[in-house]
Amino acid sequence: MRIFNSFSGINVIKEILRHERCAEYVFECFPPDFLKEVVRPYSDIKSELKTFSGIGDKNPSETVAKVSRASLREEIVHSVKKKVFENNLPYIHLSYYPMGYRTICAFRVDCDVTDRASFFNLLNHAEKHELPMTWFIDVASQESYMKEVASIRKAGHDIQLHCYNHVTYGNYRKNEKNIRKGKDLMEASGIPVSGFVSPFGQWNPSLNKVLEDMEFQYSSEFAIGYDDLPFYPFFNRHISSVLQIPIHPICIGSLRNAGFMPHEMIAYFDTLVSTKN
Ligand SMILES: [Zn+2]
Repeated sequence: MRIFNSFSGINVIKEILRHERCAEYVFECFPPDFLKEVVRPYSDIKSELKTFSGIGDKNPSETVAKVSRASLREEIVHSVKKKVFENNLPYIHLSYYPMGYRTICAFRVDCDVTDRASFFNLLNHAEKHELPMTWFIDVASQESYMKEVASIRKAGHDIQLHCYNHVTYGNYRKNEKNIRKGKDLMEASGIPVSGFVSPFGQWNPSLNKVLEDMEFQYSSEFAIGYDDLPFYPFFNRHISSVLQIPIHPICIGSLRNAGFMPHEMIAYFDTLVSTKN
C-alpha cells in the first residue's frame, strides 16, 4: 500500500499515467494545478442507483459507482495528450490491450445459488461454443459438488471466489470471516484462489482492506467502477494494492427485472458489444 500525503489533483493524474505506463517526460508536461476541478471527483467512492439505456421503454437499473470514472479518466488523458502535443512530443504509453488487439471481451459467471444441474447445463453451453469462462463460486451453494467444480479447470476454465454466504458486509471482521471460509474450502478442493467478486457488486473500504490483507490480485465490483479499464481504487489517502477489473454492470437478471424478453436481451448485448469495438 502506498500512502499519499494529500489527495491533490496532481497525484490522481500521476496515478492514472503511472497505470498507463507513460513515458517519464509525459509527467513533466503539465502544471501542478492542472485540471483541478475535473480530477477531484475521481476519488469519490460513493455508489448510487443508475438507469441504463435499454430497448423501447424498458431500461435496466443497477447500483453502481456514482462517478463515471471512465469518462473522467478519458477526459484527463485527452487533456494530458494535448499538453504533450503542445510540446511537440508523442504520447507514449503501454497498449490498453494485449498482443495488438483493438479490444478484448471476457465472460464471467457469478454462480449465485446455482445447483449442480444448472452449473453443468451452463458448462455444456460454454464447451459447445468453445468459451473458457471465469466462474466466481458462491461456495455455500457449490460446496456439495466442489470437487467436480475443480475438475473443469482442466478444460481451461478459471475458477475464483464470489463468497461463502451471498452477502457483502459493511465491516472488516464479517467480510474477512465470509471470504476466508469460502477461500479455504475452495483451496481444500485444489482450487487456488487469487480473484474475488463481491455479492451484488458492492464495494466498501473495509471489504477492500480484507482483500488487501488476504493478498488477492484482483476484484471486480461495479459499485466502485464499471465499463472502464482496470484500475487501482483510491480511498482514504491510499491506492489499493488490489487491481479492480470493471465489468458492464447489467446482467441477464437485471434485464429480466426490467421486463426484457430473451430476444431483447440478445439485442441489448449485441448493441453493447458493438459500442466496445
Ligand atoms: Zn452474486
